[in-house]
Amino acid sequence: MNDYGLPIWGNSNFTIDSEGRVCLNTDFKPALIDMVNEIRDDGIRGPILLRFPHLIKKQIVEIYSNFARARKEFEYKGEFHAVYPLKVNQYPGFVKNLVKLGKHYKYGLEAGSKAELLLAMTYNNFDAPITVNGFKDKELINIGFIAAEMGHNITITIEGLSELKAIIETAKERFAPKPFIGLRIRLHNSGTGIWAKSGGINSKFGLTSTELIEAISMLKEANLIDRFTMIHFHIGSQISEIHPLKKALTEAGNIYAELRKMGACNLKSINLGGGLAIEYSQTKENANRNYTLREYANDVVFLLKTIANHKKVDEPDIFVESGRFVSASHAVLIAPVLELFSQEYTEKKLALKDQNPPVIAELFDLYKDMKPANALEYLHDAISHLDSVLTLFDLGYVDLIDRSNGEILVHLIMKKSISMLGNKQNYADLLKIQDEVQERYLVNFSIFQSLPDFWGIKQHFPIMPLEKLDERPTLSASIWDITCDSDGEISFDSIKNPLFLHDIDPEKENYFIGFFLVGAYQEVLGMSHNLFAHPTEATIRLKDDGGYEICDLLESQSVSDILEDMDYDVSLIRDTLNERIEKSSLINEKEKKQILGELYLFLNDNGYLKTIG
Ligand SMILES: *Cc1c(COP(=O)(O)O)cnc(C)c1O
Repeated sequence: MNDYGLPIWGNSNFTIDSEGRVCLNTDFKPALIDMVNEIRDDGIRGPILLRFPHLIKKQIVEIYSNFARARKEFEYKGEFHAVYPLKVNQYPGFVKNLVKLGKHYKYGLEAGSKAELLLAMTYNNFDAPITVNGFKDKELINIGFIAAEMGHNITITIEGLSELKAIIETAKERFAPKPFIGLRIRLHNSGTGIWAKSGGINSKFGLTSTELIEAISMLKEANLIDRFTMIHFHIGSQISEIHPLKKALTEAGNIYAELRKMGACNLKSINLGGGLAIEYSQTKENANRNYTLREYANDVVFLLKTIANHKKVDEPDIFVESGRFVSASHAVLIAPVLELFSQEYTEKKLALKDQNPPVIAELFDLYKDMKPANALEYLHDAISHLDSVLTLFDLGYVDLIDRSNGEILVHLIMKKSISMLGNKQNYADLLKIQDEVQERYLVNFSIFQSLPDFWGIKQHFPIMPLEKLDERPTLSASIWDITCDSDGEISFDSIKNPLFLHDIDPEKENYFIGFFLVGAYQEVLGMSHNLFAHPTEATIRLKDDGGYEICDLLESQSVSDILEDMDYDVSLIRDTLNERIEKSSLINEKEKKQILGELYLFLNDNGYLKTIG
């Protein structure tokens, strides 16, 4: 059975049932395809994003319980806190669930802009922490003070001395309750991986050691040193190895102890930022990370304890801001296959003559007589025969029908050899051929809208069909989205991610592809290229009796809504279309009326395709 690497990336969240369907790995194992069909029964077409709150909860519990265990194991005296960085996914369908599920732990929110801070002030559980990072102006700092005045437990982390000056000024102007102040430190140890730019000596963020010393004296002078409680760093996202984090922690731990000695009397927390990686890879060879959350928690607690004891300071409270780790697994994008492109190479299309040129006759024999034992040899013969067919065509010895027969036969032989020799055989030739005969699956979604990190930085996301997992997929597949951009393609990658899908006829059956781990960053980074909107979304709530409930169904934006978002005057668009139809002399009154009705429907529906899938 091809499990598409589920044991590697799935984190036991999904399973495959005896009918070959992807199911939630819960007590009653509901199949994803049933959820999709239920939503489609209401007439919804196009891509659907399913949210699973039970998977948000699972990640929150995992973080808190691992740190609780590590603190107990090492008899750690500092506290543990976590905040969720809103930039990773600000969609209400996610945030509202997260806040509710995190209430018990006092799970807080992190904001990096005015809009995010206002969201945090509205939705955060009242006794849970809020942290603010990123570049700030006086207005943003002012909003932070308002949060403190409302009673929020808020820490504003400054990125540079000018921000500290603005805080000192604001403190003089505002009312009595003041926010806590954090300092972002610039480390000389940085992370690894594509996102590592956030840390390191050349980082965009943070104070150098000289600036830290200056900050302490500024805080003392302004009588705000008692509000300074936290140092913060963030070495980048999806940290692939634990080693750079340990180096950064050692550095931060020592800075913490030094600042305490310099009179930072209320400094008690170290905020490690985010960066906790998740596994996206579908093959063992390409695994993304070399550590587990258990190891991460142990290392953090043990290292900070060691440094604090050595430097004779109190063990600091630990803050983490993991975003990807908490949100990635909660969302699955499901999109129907509309078409298979190279279906022209079927046996049906063969137009063999009564008398065929010898090379074509031989190709036909190879195709008929192929067996596992001779498959590789026949495959080699077929490829060299194709060369001959094309040369003979150029010389005028065979006609277009012969050439077409030759091309079809060679493709059929390639496919047959792949299915006989299996996907896992590491024949170099076979891999090359899989690249050549890859089937192009046209899928009803937009890569730009739903997998922007694939487009931007070639981030891989696990891909698998929702059904037929009890049948061996035989076609090496590339995925084409419905934008008219040639970058809207996930091509077959025989080395890093050989994707095989089933040979289906989309006119006869529905075939759905699932894109997993899309809950972090993808939704808000997604863009409306070709004016395709955020997909239809639904939240799946598990019920105690084993069933599930489809909640908060939010249909993809209509064409008029998306045009309105771009500041088009939609009523003007409607009027102009009306007027142009009214003026047309090519159609009669009855036809005009019908056309107007049709256009009205199109404008009020979303732009994804509706054919079959
Ligand atoms: C982006 C960001 C995070 C979240 O990082 P993940 O890799 O998603 O965990 C946390 N803290 C800060 C300051 C960030 O900028």
